[in-house]
Amino acid sequence: MTSGINSASASASADVAVVGAGIIGLSVAMHLVAQGRSVLLIDRKGIAQETSAQNAGALAFSDILPLASPRILRQAPRWLLDPLGPLAIRPGYALQMLPWLLRFGLASRPSAYRASLQAQTQLMRLAAPAFHAMLARAKASHMIRQDGSLQVYESDAEFRSSLAGWQLRAEAGIAFEHVKGERLRALQPGLASSIVAGTFVPHWETVSDPFEVASALGRHVMQAGATWRQAEVRSIAVRDGGLELQLAQGSAVRAKQAVIATGAWSRQLAAQLGDAIPLETERGYNTTLPPGAFDLQRQIIFGAHGFVVTPLSTGIRVGGAVELGGLQLPPNFKRSAHMLEKASRLLPGLQTEGGTQWMGYRPSLPDSLPVIGHAKAGRQVVYAFGHGHLGLTQSGATGHLVAELLAGHTPSIPLEPFRPDRF
Ligand SMILES: Cc1cc2nc3c(=O)[nH]c(=O)nc-3n(C[C@H](O)[C@H](O)[C@H](O)COP(=O)(O)OP(=O)(O)OC[C@H]3O[C@@H](n4cnc5c(N)ncnc54)[C@H](O)[C@@H]3O)c2cc1C
Repeated sequence: MTSGINSASASASADVAVVGAGIIGLSVAMHLVAQGRSVLLIDRKGIAQETSAQNAGALAFSDILPLASPRILRQAPRWLLDPLGPLAIRPGYALQMLPWLLRFGLASRPSAYRASLQAQTQLMRLAAPAFHAMLARAKASHMIRQDGSLQVYESDAEFRSSLAGWQLRAEAGIAFEHVKGERLRALQPGLASSIVAGTFVPHWETVSDPFEVASALGRHVMQAGATWRQAEVRSIAVRDGGLELQLAQGSAVRAKQAVIATGAWSRQLAAQLGDAIPLETERGYNTTLPPGAFDLQRQIIFGAHGFVVTPLSTGIRVGGAVELGGLQLPPNFKRSAHMLEKASRLLPGLQTEGGTQWMGYRPSLPDSLPVIGHAKAGRQVVYAFGHGHLGLTQSGATGHLVAELLAGHTPSIPLEPFRPDRF
């Protein structure tokens, strides 16, 4: 935030401090100002300068299948064979990743998977209305595109192997249409001839641009009276019944309540409050091509290749992939280039020049569910992080639930599966 509106003074006190101004912190702040709470929003970089800035823009409300699943365990070994493929582990980080991977394996067992599926379905049911209401309040509803998504398959075998997942979605009441031939080509002209089938999901939505949406929420929160502070929170502790947040610049902030929404960087602050949370990052890559690089009708999902292509107001974004490599190793932008190459094979008319490459840090828990709940050190602190591949989609629901927790209300859905101490 450069405008400096409502900037907090050097040593401030606040009713609620929200740490992290990614899409999750912004949504939390939106819900709190709507309740009339006085909010101090703190971020070391600005509004949505990290993962929430350049994701794929999907409001994947129908994406109820947790990533940690028997299906991924079957698929992963093949994906790992391709060093630039959909899933990679940086050799320099493999040992650190091991505990998380073991937990991911446990969360992928059928019984654990079914429990996560149920939790994710409940969260998604809340996610759509909460996101729509939030954008309406911010006068940003026009930033939602309601033209569905098209998942495509290159063989009958690939299509058939997706059917079990579609069956689970059907049981959850999610509408979709399997398409072939002319219907497939009408939904997206210009697909490669190797694509033999697709699934159209009519209620899948995308946003005009994730940064545009986050900026609109940031503006609304400030206009509603929140205070802004650009600072890194170094530590947080319960003191005299309230909270003290020490900032990197040396000053401190006192608050009655706080929300930790620091995405992939949340583990350390949670540890200071007595919670050992196995948060890791799944790094993702993309390239944003100039608008007009392809006449894209809607988001196209190339599931077997682990990437999507999204039409945005700012261009055509090609990206996805998962790289397990922590927060310190430099990006490997060969991944963005590799996905772009594949995209130009699958969408032969795609103009691949003039793109901007990006890498972001998905904050991920091993069971593919976020952490939404109170800190061990005190109920004054609520965690809201770990949304992995779905933070934009689940942001409205998370803001809604966190506001309920801070107000001492019964949450709209059971929060047991999202408890910080579930591991
Ligand atoms: C390639 C890619 C594609 C994706 N596509 C989608 C998609 O299509 N749909 C979807 O729903 N999700 C998608 N995601 C996931 C989504 O982007 C994330 O889940 C979401 O952005 C996480 O938001 P956040 O607010 O938790 O974290 P961030 O956006 O990372 O925000 C955390 C903030 O905390 C701040 N911070 C950290 N530590 C401190 C500190 N100590 N003091 C002060 N500030 C601090 C950071 O500066 C940052 O601004 C994608 C992710 C990637 C990488």
